[in-house]
Amino acid sequence: MMIPENEAGATLTIDLGALQRNYRALATMGPKAQCAAVVKADAYGIGIEKAGPALARAGCRTFFVAHISEGKRLRAAAPDAAIYVLNGLFGEAIDTYAASDLRPVLGSREDVEAFAAFCETAGRRLPAAIHVDTGMNRLGLDLAEAALLAEPGPAALAFEPALLMSHFACADEAGHPLTARQIDRFAQLRGLFPGVPGSLANSAGCALPASHHDIMRPGVALYGARFVSGRDPLEPVVRLDAPVVQVRSVAKGQTVGYGAAWTAPRTSHIAIVSVGYADGYLRQAGSTDRKTGAPARVNGVLCPLAGRVSMDLIAIDVTDAGQVAKGDAVTLIGDGIGVDDVAEAAGTIGYEILTGLGRRYHRRYVD
Ligand SMILES: *Cc1c(COP(=O)(O)O)cnc(C)c1O
Repeated sequence: MMIPENEAGATLTIDLGALQRNYRALATMGPKAQCAAVVKADAYGIGIEKAGPALARAGCRTFFVAHISEGKRLRAAAPDAAIYVLNGLFGEAIDTYAASDLRPVLGSREDVEAFAAFCETAGRRLPAAIHVDTGMNRLGLDLAEAALLAEPGPAALAFEPALLMSHFACADEAGHPLTARQIDRFAQLRGLFPGVPGSLANSAGCALPASHHDIMRPGVALYGARFVSGRDPLEPVVRLDAPVVQVRSVAKGQTVGYGAAWTAPRTSHIAIVSVGYADGYLRQAGSTDRKTGAPARVNGVLCPLAGRVSMDLIAIDVTDAGQVAKGDAVTLIGDGIGVDDVAEAAGTIGYEILTGLGRRYHRRYVD
Protein backbone atom coordinates (compact mmCIF):
# COMPACT_ATOMS: atom_id res chain seq x y z
CA MET A 1 0.00 0.00 0.00
CA MET A 2 1.38 3.36 -1.06
CA ILE A 3 0.75 6.11 1.50
CA PRO A 4 0.68 9.64 0.09
CA GLU A 5 3.15 12.14 1.52
CA ASN A 6 0.49 14.47 2.93
CA GLU A 7 -1.12 11.62 4.88
CA ALA A 8 2.07 10.09 6.31
CA GLY A 9 3.90 11.03 9.51
CA ALA A 10 7.24 10.83 7.77
CA THR A 11 8.89 10.20 4.43
CA LEU A 12 11.30 7.34 3.89
CA THR A 13 13.54 8.03 0.91
CA ILE A 14 15.24 5.00 -0.61
CA ASP A 15 18.14 5.68 -2.95
CA LEU A 16 18.28 2.85 -5.48
CA GLY A 17 21.30 4.49 -7.14
CA ALA A 18 23.21 4.21 -3.85
CA LEU A 19 22.11 0.57 -3.61
CA GLN A 20 23.54 -0.07 -7.07
CA ARG A 21 26.80 1.74 -6.26
CA ASN A 22 27.15 -0.31 -3.08
CA TYR A 23 26.57 -3.47 -5.10
CA ARG A 24 29.31 -2.50 -7.55
CA ALA A 25 31.69 -1.56 -4.71
CA LEU A 26 31.21 -5.00 -3.13
CA ALA A 27 31.59 -6.76 -6.48
CA THR A 28 34.89 -4.92 -6.97
CA MET A 29 36.14 -6.30 -3.64
CA GLY A 30 35.99 -9.82 -5.12
CA PRO A 31 36.95 -9.44 -8.78
CA LYS A 32 37.28 -13.21 -9.29
CA ALA A 33 33.94 -14.08 -7.67
CA GLN A 34 30.37 -13.45 -8.74
CA CYS A 35 28.57 -11.05 -6.41
CA ALA A 36 25.07 -12.16 -5.40
CA ALA A 37 22.67 -10.16 -3.20
CA VAL A 38 20.79 -11.17 -0.08
CA VAL A 39 17.32 -9.61 -0.26
CA LYS A 40 15.54 -11.43 2.57
CA ALA A 41 13.13 -9.58 4.87
CA ASP A 42 11.84 -7.37 2.04
CA ALA A 43 15.40 -6.50 1.02
CA TYR A 44 16.31 -5.53 4.60
CA GLY A 45 13.21 -3.34 4.78
CA ILE A 46 13.69 -1.25 1.62
CA GLY A 47 11.29 -3.23 -0.61
CA ILE A 48 12.16 -6.37 -2.57
CA GLU A 49 10.12 -5.41 -5.66
CA LYS A 50 12.27 -2.27 -6.11
CA ALA A 51 15.59 -3.60 -4.83
CA GLY A 52 15.55 -6.80 -6.93
CA PRO A 53 15.26 -5.15 -10.35
CA ALA A 54 17.68 -2.34 -9.35
CA LEU A 55 20.31 -4.90 -8.35
CA ALA A 56 19.67 -6.94 -11.50
CA ARG A 57 20.27 -3.78 -13.56
CA ALA A 58 23.56 -3.34 -11.68
CA GLY A 59 24.62 -6.81 -12.83
CA CYS A 60 23.39 -9.11 -10.06
CA ARG A 61 22.28 -12.53 -11.32
CA THR A 62 21.92 -14.53 -8.09
CA PHE A 63 19.72 -13.69 -5.10
CA PHE A 64 19.11 -15.14 -1.67
CA VAL A 65 15.84 -14.81 0.27
CA ALA A 66 14.81 -16.48 3.55
CA HIS A 67 11.25 -17.56 2.73
CA ILE A 68 9.50 -19.11 -0.25
CA SER A 69 6.98 -16.24 -0.21
CA GLU A 70 9.87 -13.78 -0.66
CA GLY A 71 11.23 -15.91 -3.48
CA LYS A 72 7.88 -15.77 -5.29
CA ARG A 73 7.72 -11.99 -4.97
CA LEU A 74 11.26 -11.67 -6.29
CA ARG A 75 10.61 -14.11 -9.14
CA ALA A 76 7.89 -11.79 -10.43
CA ALA A 77 10.30 -8.82 -10.23
CA ALA A 78 13.44 -10.55 -11.54
CA PRO A 79 12.37 -13.20 -14.06
CA ASP A 80 15.87 -14.29 -15.10
CA ALA A 81 17.63 -14.48 -11.73
CA ALA A 82 18.76 -17.57 -9.82
CA ILE A 83 16.93 -17.37 -6.49
CA TYR A 84 17.96 -19.39 -3.43
CA VAL A 85 15.70 -19.79 -0.40
CA LEU A 86 17.92 -19.86 2.68
CA ASN A 87 15.62 -21.26 5.33
CA GLY A 88 15.26 -24.61 3.66
CA LEU A 89 12.31 -26.82 2.93
CA PHE A 90 8.90 -26.58 4.51
CA GLY A 91 7.30 -29.91 3.57
CA GLU A 92 4.02 -28.95 1.94
CA ALA A 93 5.49 -26.19 -0.22
CA ILE A 94 8.16 -28.33 -1.86
CA ASP A 95 6.46 -28.26 -5.30
CA THR A 96 6.52 -24.44 -5.19
CA TYR A 97 10.26 -24.61 -5.80
CA ALA A 98 9.70 -26.24 -9.16
CA ALA A 99 6.64 -24.14 -10.00
CA SER A 100 8.33 -20.78 -9.26
CA ASP A 101 11.82 -21.80 -10.37
CA LEU A 102 13.29 -21.32 -6.88
CA ARG A 103 16.25 -23.17 -5.43
CA PRO A 104 16.07 -24.50 -1.88
CA VAL A 105 19.09 -24.26 0.39
CA LEU A 106 19.17 -27.75 1.90
CA GLY A 107 20.30 -27.39 5.48
CA SER A 108 19.80 -30.84 7.00
CA ARG A 109 19.89 -34.51 6.01
CA GLU A 110 16.08 -34.53 6.09
CA ASP A 111 15.99 -31.60 3.65
CA VAL A 112 18.42 -33.36 1.32
CA GLU A 113 16.45 -36.60 1.40
CA ALA A 114 13.10 -34.88 0.91
CA PHE A 115 14.31 -32.87 -2.07
CA ALA A 116 16.05 -35.86 -3.63
CA ALA A 117 12.82 -37.87 -3.29
CA PHE A 118 10.82 -35.02 -4.80
CA CYS A 119 13.19 -34.81 -7.79
CA GLU A 120 13.00 -38.56 -8.33
CA THR A 121 9.21 -38.53 -8.30
CA ALA A 122 9.07 -35.48 -10.56
CA GLY A 123 11.64 -37.00 -12.89
CA ARG A 124 13.60 -33.73 -12.90
CA ARG A 125 17.07 -33.01 -11.54
CA LEU A 126 16.26 -29.62 -10.00
CA PRO A 127 18.97 -27.28 -8.68
CA ALA A 128 19.55 -26.74 -4.95
CA ALA A 129 22.26 -25.49 -2.61
CA ILE A 130 23.84 -27.70 0.03
CA HIS A 131 24.39 -25.78 3.27
CA VAL A 132 27.09 -27.19 5.54
CA ASP A 133 27.67 -25.92 9.05
CA THR A 134 31.27 -24.86 9.74
CA GLY A 135 30.76 -23.35 13.20
CA MET A 136 27.56 -21.30 13.32
CA ASN A 137 25.42 -24.16 14.65
CA ARG A 138 22.23 -22.81 13.18
CA LEU A 139 21.39 -24.47 9.86
CA GLY A 140 23.47 -26.83 7.78
CA LEU A 141 24.61 -30.44 7.56
CA ASP A 142 27.48 -31.26 9.86
CA LEU A 143 30.82 -32.10 8.29
CA ALA A 144 30.38 -35.85 8.69
CA GLU A 145 26.95 -35.74 7.04
CA ALA A 146 28.41 -33.69 4.20
CA ALA A 147 31.22 -36.20 3.70
CA LEU A 148 28.71 -39.04 3.55
CA LEU A 149 26.57 -37.16 1.04
CA ALA A 150 29.62 -36.47 -1.13
CA GLU A 151 30.95 -40.03 -1.15
CA PRO A 152 29.24 -41.29 -4.32
CA GLY A 153 30.20 -38.01 -6.06
CA PRO A 154 28.06 -34.96 -6.85
CA ALA A 155 26.83 -36.52 -10.10
CA ALA A 156 25.10 -39.30 -8.16
CA LEU A 157 22.69 -36.92 -6.41
CA ALA A 158 19.07 -36.92 -7.54
CA PHE A 159 19.11 -33.09 -7.49
CA GLU A 160 21.64 -30.78 -9.10
CA PRO A 161 24.07 -29.49 -6.42
CA ALA A 162 24.28 -25.97 -7.87
CA LEU A 163 26.01 -24.45 -4.84
CA LEU A 164 27.92 -25.51 -1.74
CA MET A 165 27.59 -22.93 1.00
CA SER A 166 28.28 -22.15 4.64
CA HIS A 167 27.70 -19.10 6.83
CA PHE A 168 30.00 -17.07 9.09
CA ALA A 169 29.20 -16.55 12.76
CA CYS A 170 31.39 -13.53 13.48
CA ALA A 171 33.29 -12.33 10.41
CA ASP A 172 32.31 -8.76 11.33
CA GLU A 173 34.69 -8.91 14.32
CA ALA A 174 38.13 -8.55 12.74
CA GLY A 175 40.49 -11.36 13.72
CA HIS A 176 37.98 -13.58 15.51
CA PRO A 177 39.55 -17.08 15.61
CA LEU A 178 36.28 -18.81 14.64
CA THR A 179 36.36 -17.03 11.26
CA ALA A 180 39.75 -18.55 10.41
CA ARG A 181 38.49 -21.99 11.45
CA GLN A 182 35.37 -21.61 9.28
CA ILE A 183 37.48 -20.54 6.30
CA ASP A 184 39.70 -23.63 6.72
CA ARG A 185 36.78 -26.02 7.15
CA PHE A 186 35.02 -24.65 4.10
CA ALA A 187 38.16 -24.95 1.96
CA GLN A 188 38.45 -28.63 2.97
CA LEU A 189 34.77 -29.19 2.33
CA ARG A 190 35.04 -27.93 -1.21
CA GLY A 191 37.47 -30.75 -1.96
CA LEU A 192 34.62 -33.20 -1.29
CA PHE A 193 32.35 -31.62 -3.91
CA PRO A 194 34.55 -31.13 -6.99
CA GLY A 195 33.01 -28.91 -9.64
CA VAL A 196 30.31 -27.51 -7.33
CA PRO A 197 30.52 -23.69 -6.95
CA GLY A 198 31.18 -22.48 -3.40
CA SER A 199 29.82 -19.56 -1.37
CA LEU A 200 30.91 -18.51 2.12
CA ALA A 201 31.19 -14.71 2.26
CA ASN A 202 28.47 -12.56 3.80
CA SER A 203 29.00 -8.77 3.77
CA ALA A 204 31.89 -8.99 6.24
CA GLY A 205 33.37 -11.84 4.21
CA CYS A 206 33.60 -9.56 1.16
CA ALA A 207 36.50 -7.93 3.03
CA LEU A 208 38.19 -11.35 3.48
CA PRO A 209 39.50 -12.63 0.12
CA ALA A 210 40.08 -16.15 1.48
CA SER A 211 36.31 -16.47 1.86
CA HIS A 212 35.28 -15.26 -1.61
CA HIS A 213 35.19 -18.60 -3.48
CA ASP A 214 32.77 -18.45 -6.46
CA ILE A 215 29.82 -16.42 -5.15
CA MET A 216 29.80 -13.74 -2.45
CA ARG A 217 26.49 -13.17 -0.62
CA PRO A 218 26.44 -9.69 0.92
CA GLY A 219 23.29 -8.41 2.55
CA VAL A 220 23.50 -5.56 5.02
CA ALA A 221 26.43 -3.79 3.31
CA LEU A 222 24.28 -3.26 0.21
CA TYR A 223 21.81 -1.26 2.28
CA GLY A 224 24.40 1.10 3.73
CA ALA A 225 24.78 -0.25 7.27
CA ARG A 226 28.05 -1.13 8.98
CA PHE A 227 29.30 -4.60 8.08
CA VAL A 228 32.72 -4.74 9.73
CA SER A 229 32.90 -3.39 13.27
CA GLY A 230 34.92 -0.22 13.52
CA ARG A 231 34.83 0.37 9.76
CA ASP A 232 32.68 2.88 7.88
CA PRO A 233 29.72 1.46 5.98
CA LEU A 234 29.22 2.04 2.24
CA GLU A 235 26.84 4.73 0.97
CA PRO A 236 23.63 5.33 2.94
CA VAL A 237 20.55 4.01 1.12
CA VAL A 238 17.73 5.15 3.41
CA ARG A 239 16.83 8.51 4.84
CA LEU A 240 13.95 9.39 7.14
CA ASP A 241 12.49 12.90 7.32
CA ALA A 242 9.47 14.01 9.31
CA PRO A 243 7.70 17.35 9.58
CA VAL A 244 7.29 18.96 13.00
CA VAL A 245 3.64 18.63 14.03
CA GLN A 246 3.86 20.89 17.08
CA VAL A 247 6.38 22.96 19.03
CA ARG A 248 5.89 23.66 22.70
CA SER A 249 7.72 25.50 25.42
CA VAL A 250 8.42 23.53 28.59
CA ALA A 251 9.45 25.34 31.78
CA LYS A 252 12.52 24.26 33.73
CA GLY A 253 11.66 21.31 35.99
CA GLN A 254 8.67 20.14 33.96
CA THR A 255 8.70 16.67 32.47
CA VAL A 256 8.04 15.38 28.95
CA GLY A 257 6.27 12.21 27.89
CA TYR A 258 5.43 8.81 29.36
CA GLY A 259 6.86 7.99 32.73
CA ALA A 260 7.78 11.65 33.14
CA ALA A 261 11.19 10.28 32.22
CA TRP A 262 12.75 13.53 30.96
CA THR A 263 12.96 16.70 33.03
CA ALA A 264 13.66 20.05 31.39
CA PRO A 265 17.02 21.32 32.73
CA ARG A 266 16.06 24.84 31.55
CA THR A 267 13.16 26.43 29.71
CA SER A 268 13.10 24.19 26.62
CA HIS A 269 11.58 24.08 23.16
CA ILE A 270 10.23 20.67 22.34
CA ALA A 271 9.33 19.63 18.79
CA ILE A 272 6.94 16.73 18.29
CA VAL A 273 7.09 14.54 15.19
CA SER A 274 4.73 11.84 14.03
CA VAL A 275 7.06 8.82 14.21
CA GLY A 276 7.11 6.22 16.97
CA TYR A 277 7.97 2.68 17.87
CA ALA A 278 5.02 1.43 15.81
CA ASP A 279 7.05 2.72 12.84
CA GLY A 280 10.10 0.73 13.88
CA TYR A 281 11.72 3.73 15.55
CA LEU A 282 12.68 1.70 18.58
CA ARG A 283 11.48 2.68 22.05
CA GLN A 284 14.99 2.02 23.37
CA ALA A 285 16.26 4.92 21.24
CA GLY A 286 14.66 7.43 23.62
CA SER A 287 16.59 9.66 26.00
CA THR A 288 16.15 10.60 29.62
CA ASP A 289 19.27 12.70 30.02
CA ARG A 290 20.09 14.56 26.76
CA LYS A 291 23.21 12.38 26.32
CA THR A 292 22.03 8.89 25.48
CA GLY A 293 19.32 8.42 22.90
CA ALA A 294 19.29 8.83 19.15
CA PRO A 295 19.99 12.23 17.59
CA ALA A 296 17.76 14.17 15.20
CA ARG A 297 18.87 16.93 12.85
CA VAL A 298 16.85 20.13 12.97
CA ASN A 299 17.98 23.31 11.18
CA GLY A 300 21.31 21.57 10.62
CA VAL A 301 21.82 21.10 14.39
CA LEU A 302 22.00 17.69 16.08
CA CYS A 303 19.31 17.65 18.76
CA PRO A 304 18.64 15.00 21.43
CA LEU A 305 15.36 13.19 21.90
CA ALA A 306 13.42 14.30 24.98
CA GLY A 307 12.04 11.35 26.91
CA ARG A 308 10.58 8.08 25.79
CA VAL A 309 9.59 7.15 22.26
CA SER A 310 5.80 6.74 22.16
CA MET A 311 3.96 4.44 19.80
CA ASP A 312 3.24 7.18 17.24
CA LEU A 313 5.22 10.24 18.40
CA ILE A 314 8.63 11.38 19.57
CA ALA A 315 9.69 14.57 21.29
CA ILE A 316 12.93 16.34 20.39
CA ASP A 317 14.70 19.00 22.45
CA VAL A 318 15.23 21.74 19.83
CA THR A 319 16.19 24.47 22.31
CA ASP A 320 19.61 24.87 20.65
CA ALA A 321 18.32 24.70 17.06
CA GLY A 322 17.06 28.26 16.65
CA GLN A 323 13.61 29.02 15.28
CA VAL A 324 11.60 25.85 14.76
CA ALA A 325 8.00 25.91 13.57
CA LYS A 326 5.26 23.49 12.68
CA GLY A 327 5.97 21.91 9.30
CA ASP A 328 9.77 22.26 9.52
CA ALA A 329 11.68 19.15 8.49
CA VAL A 330 13.42 16.93 11.02
CA THR A 331 15.88 14.32 9.82
CA LEU A 332 15.93 11.12 11.86
CA ILE A 333 18.11 9.11 9.47
CA GLY A 334 20.41 10.86 6.97
CA ASP A 335 22.56 14.02 6.97
CA GLY A 336 25.24 12.31 9.03
CA ILE A 337 22.85 10.23 11.15
CA GLY A 338 23.36 6.64 10.06
CA VAL A 339 21.11 3.68 10.71
CA ASP A 340 23.98 2.49 12.89
CA ASP A 341 23.76 5.61 15.05
CA VAL A 342 20.07 5.00 15.72
CA ALA A 343 20.88 1.33 16.32
CA GLU A 344 23.63 2.13 18.79
CA ALA A 345 21.37 4.46 20.77
CA ALA A 346 18.79 1.67 20.96
CA GLY A 347 21.33 -0.98 21.93
CA THR A 348 20.96 -2.95 18.72
CA ILE A 349 22.43 -3.32 15.21
CA GLY A 350 21.74 -1.57 11.91
CA TYR A 351 20.10 -4.73 10.58
CA GLU A 352 17.26 -4.39 13.09
CA ILE A 353 16.67 -0.72 12.29
CA LEU A 354 16.56 -1.44 8.54
CA THR A 355 14.31 -4.49 8.72
CA GLY A 356 11.97 -2.69 11.12
CA LEU A 357 11.43 0.36 8.89
CA GLY A 358 7.76 1.17 9.20
CA ARG A 359 4.85 0.52 6.90
CA ARG A 360 3.19 3.88 7.63
CA TYR A 361 5.85 6.01 5.99
CA HIS A 362 5.44 7.62 2.61
CA ARG A 363 8.06 5.72 0.62
CA ARG A 364 9.89 7.61 -2.06
CA TYR A 365 12.28 5.76 -4.38
CA VAL A 366 14.98 7.84 -6.08
CA ASP A 367 17.82 6.88 -8.40
C1 LIG B 1 21.52 -13.01 6.09
C2 LIG B 1 22.49 -13.93 5.48
C3 LIG B 1 23.52 -13.42 4.65
C4 LIG B 1 23.82 -11.95 4.52
O1 LIG B 1 24.41 -11.51 5.73
P1 LIG B 1 24.90 -9.99 5.90
O2 LIG B 1 25.59 -10.00 7.21
O3 LIG B 1 23.67 -9.16 5.92
O4 LIG B 1 25.78 -9.67 4.76
C5 LIG B 1 24.32 -14.33 3.99
N1 LIG B 1 24.13 -15.67 4.15
C6 LIG B 1 23.18 -16.19 4.97
C7 LIG B 1 23.05 -17.67 5.11
C8 LIG B 1 22.34 -15.33 5.66
O5 LIG B 1 21.41 -15.84 6.48
